[in-house]
Amino acid sequence: MIVAVDGPAGSGKGTVTKRIEKDLGFLNLDTGATYRCVALEMIRKNIDLKNESEIIKIANAIDIKIHNEREKDIILLNGEDVTKEIRTKEVTAIVSQVSSIIPVREIMVEVQRKLAQGKNIIVEGRDIGTVVFPNAELKIYLDAKEEVRAKRRYDENIQNGMNITYEEVLENVKMRDYNDMHKKFGALRKAENAVVIDSSNMTIDEVVEKIKILIKNKQEEL
Ligand code: C5P
Repeated sequence: MIVAVDGPAGSGKGTVTKRIEKDLGFLNLDTGATYRCVALEMIRKNIDLKNESEIIKIANAIDIKIHNEREKDIILLNGEDVTKEIRTKEVTAIVSQVSSIIPVREIMVEVQRKLAQGKNIIVEGRDIGTVVFPNAELKIYLDAKEEVRAKRRYDENIQNGMNITYEEVLENVKMRDYNDMHKKFGALRKAENAVVIDSSNMTIDEVVEKIKILIKNKQEEL
């Protein structure tokens, strides 16, 4: 069974899907991590955002593996653990532009499909229910108000020891929302048959419970 969870940055996708993984034994796949790996490799190789042909080469050449651990997944880029490095400000600042390059998306969609193959899986991203797994048995669109999402990301960054202001995080969230919603291919949008959950005034537990009920109902139907 595939559960697709799409939504903007800070809507709670990562936290919630990880909890579902723990509670229901589904694996979870964070597709944003694949785009972050491309962005990190660009920074390491000093490749400019304008140099699309080199970026596409990187997307083709890198090897991405995800080890699902109970607490936090380990992201391996060419065999090296980059779990922390793919979340730096520098990567976050360019990742939505990197993910707008159509051939990069095509390559990453294939990578994501391979990573998910043959598993009971909950997949989070922006275009999972629309492009990557249009036949997913259950589709969820997780949303929340911009300020709430920025505050969540800010708290998370501070907890991880990052030196960043709330205003910087809010700016980044706005910029990524705009980029993600205006992509020519794989833009963030609600799939037709997705269930919308607005988590602005909900606790993580409440969102998790709601999704668990949706999954149970769907499993009974199948
Ligand atoms: O989810 P996360 O914030 O880690 O994603 C990083 C970036 O990757 C997003 O801002 C978005 O531009 C891009 N992305 C995407 N399609 C996905 C997942 C992420 O374009 N399925």
